[in-house]
Amino acid sequence: MKEYILGIDLGGTNIECGLVDREGNIKIRKRCPTQKEKGAGKVLSNILSTAREVISEVKSRKYKIIAIGIGTPGAVDQETGCIVGGAPNIPGWKGIPLVPALRKEFSLPTFASNDVTLYALGETMFGAGKGKKDIVCLAIGTGIGAGIVIGGKIYRGAIDGAAEVGHTTVKLDGKKCKCGSFGCLERYASATAIAEMGRKASRKDTGSLIYKLAGGDAKRVTAKVVFNAAKQGDKAAEEIVQKVGWFLGAGIANLVNILNPEMVIIGGGVAKAGGILLKIVKKSIETYALEVNRKGLKITLGKLKTDAGIVGAAALAWQEMK
Ligand SMILES: [Zn+2]
Repeated sequence: MKEYILGIDLGGTNIECGLVDREGNIKIRKRCPTQKEKGAGKVLSNILSTAREVISEVKSRKYKIIAIGIGTPGAVDQETGCIVGGAPNIPGWKGIPLVPALRKEFSLPTFASNDVTLYALGETMFGAGKGKKDIVCLAIGTGIGAGIVIGGKIYRGAIDGAAEVGHTTVKLDGKKCKCGSFGCLERYASATAIAEMGRKASRKDTGSLIYKLAGGDAKRVTAKVVFNAAKQGDKAAEEIVQKVGWFLGAGIANLVNILNPEMVIIGGGVAKAGGILLKIVKKSIETYALEVNRKGLKITLGKLKTDAGIVGAAALAWQEMK
């Protein structure tokens, strides 16, 4: 009987669940809305019911599930399996006994960690970082998350809270961040920050392509609009992309100096900008990182697409079950 891991990805909008084999391929998959507005208890029961749906299909097809892996926003206490610190996109998630609840329901070994940390492990085992052991992986979307893999294993830190790269300081007197600090990387290089800069630029110059591509409504400017305008040669958009890439490169250079990774993988929605952004990021890293540390360093885009969360969660369980 072929063995599988049940991989679960808890997002702010959806819960994704799938059976993942040793090579990172997904067999059966289910999706259910997170329904965070109905409270953390409902979110937990939605996770259990989605997992149950997959497992009931498995019984009829005679596959063997050997463990469960789950990625969640926030951090997971590795002693108790409970959520520590909470998650900004799921109100009330702090303290939820995530791992004990899954273990009790399915009587399977269950492993959990932060979703972006597991995304990094997924890219390392099954994606762009295959064959590498020391990797830093950034997920750039609404915010900036990251995962660190050292010697092929995820680096969790003392409380599973490592790799908060989005909240590293890149400008001492910079903009205030929702975390309470100032000048955080995600205030300058997240999709949210890019859209904010795009809106400002399009209000200043309504003749700009950013304004046109947003349908003549500054409120509808997104990061994607800014990148599209830059690709078509719009000056204001190019300036924004230049600034974003430069900040991002500086943030990555700090990681390169501290961790000396073999590879930096950039994933998440902003990674879709591709070469136009990557080119500037690389230049910035050349400026700010030590030459000895960036020699041989590869900067690349993530390979895992929409299934990255499920595959990453399963990667942890495969590794733990070895
Ligand atoms: Zn911050």
